[in-house]
Amino acid sequence: MNLKTCPFCGSPAEIKEQSYYGRTMYRVSCTKCHCSTELVPTGINLLNNEEITIEAAQSRAVSLWQTRATYGTV
Ligand SMILES: [Zn+2]
Repeated sequence: MNLKTCPFCGSPAEIKEQSYYGRTMYRVSCTKCHCSTELVPTGINLLNNEEITIEAAQSRAVSLWQTRATYGTV
């Protein structure tokens, strides 16, 4: 997966896995300044009762990151 560099400091980014209240969540985070996207949970989506797979959560986190990375001119 090709992640854009950090919009703030230009460093490489990576996908991070995190466990939160028994759920596995993903976010994309800068390896240097540690800015990151919001956490994207796997499991049941409470809004529509659909299962969110690991792949779906990761790609959602990546798209959040890629969108933000287009802001500004860093
Ligand atoms: Zn950064």
